[in-house]
Amino acid sequence: MKLTTESITTELKPGDRLPNLGASRLPVYLYPRPRCPECGGTRLNKYRSLADQGDGSALWWVKCADDDCAAKFKVLLE
Ligand SMILES: [Zn+2]
Repeated sequence: MKLTTESITTELKPGDRLPNLGASRLPVYLYPRPRCPECGGTRLNKYRSLADQGDGSALWWVKCADDDCAAKFKVLLE
């Protein structure tokens, strides 16, 4: 089976181990980048952040970089 970016992102869950791609023997894990909940865009401007909330998680305040959307929301990174 030939793996494409689309098949990887639709068939696997975050944190899943992927079949090895290319010649590398290192395992590959999937961690999707944060996306805007309104438009699905991946261009986000982080304007404030808490690097460590005490439990190792981080919190970002972000604004969608798409001018037509410009949604503001928070991203929690576990
Ligand atoms: Zn957006």
